[in-house]
Amino acid sequence: MGNKSIYLLDTMVILSGFYRAHNRKFITTSKVRNEVWHRNPSKIDILLVTNQLEILDPEPQYVKKAITHSRTLGEEGKLSDSDISLIALAMQLRDSNKEVIVFTDDYSIQNVLKSLGIVYKPITSLGIRKMFKWKYVCVACKSSFSRKVEICPKCGSKIVRLPEEIKNH
Ligand SMILES: [Zn+2]
Repeated sequence: MGNKSIYLLDTMVILSGFYRAHNRKFITTSKVRNEVWHRNPSKIDILLVTNQLEILDPEPQYVKKAITHSRTLGEEGKLSDSDISLIALAMQLRDSNKEVIVFTDDYSIQNVLKSLGIVYKPITSLGIRKMFKWKYVCVACKSSFSRKVEICPKCGSKIVRLPEEIKNH
């Protein structure tokens, strides 16, 4: 991990407080930012105030490429729009000869990046314990599911993906 590497962060990595131990700049997409914001606005505010987080969005053609590639691997259904945006940005930066490292603990993101030959690291590789997992919550009846569901089986409403509560470590 050279100093010139670009560090891309996914939602759970930002929520982990990863940035506190690292005096350097990170990049993520506006979709990831919005997902974190929805869950815990202070995590994003701190990064922006300390000038540690830059928001960059992939060009639409790379979003299309990321979706197509994820589909061929059977991972598309397991990836959120923000996951796709991060993969697309990694592809775009790599294509412009940037050295990119994506920090993610998400197996589906890792699987797609691996097949693209893009470097990824779990946050555990930086000495931070894994503290999160996703839950799927119905926007209407608030039922919570540990496995991915598209539509609430109880009331038929939309499901959103949220990280589980942060545990102190
Ligand atoms: Zn429901």
